[in-house]
Amino acid sequence: MLHILNTAHVFSGNKGEKVMHISEFQRVMRHIYFHRDSKRGIEETFDRFTDEVKELGQALRSDDTKEIEGEFADVIAWLTSVANLVNVDVEESVLEKYGNVCPRCKHSPCKCAF
Ligand SMILES: [Zn+2]
Repeated sequence: MLHILNTAHVFSGNKGEKVMHISEFQRVMRHIYFHRDSKRGIEETFDRFTDEVKELGQALRSDDTKEIEGEFADVIAWLTSVANLVNVDVEESVLEKYGNVCPRCKHSPCKCAF
């Protein structure tokens, strides 16, 4: 069984900033919350995720940068909680679908029509 403490995979990048892969963050969320997420179940955990998305939407209407940042953190935390329940690696999924280009037009920046 893999147990990783949340501080173990936060390390400094080139400019001294904190860096963490999405997959590492997802493992940290699993370590902290999986026992609670699995007890709650997929449907209720997904509901909590959508609640956080709505809260992010409300925060975006404010000028409170700290509040907006906090809601982004909550959204990705709950997103990874849902992913953990269905054994999806969010980082792998993102790389598979998006890589370095738009998945539809295969360009970066995207050239799709609005
Ligand atoms: Zn495109």
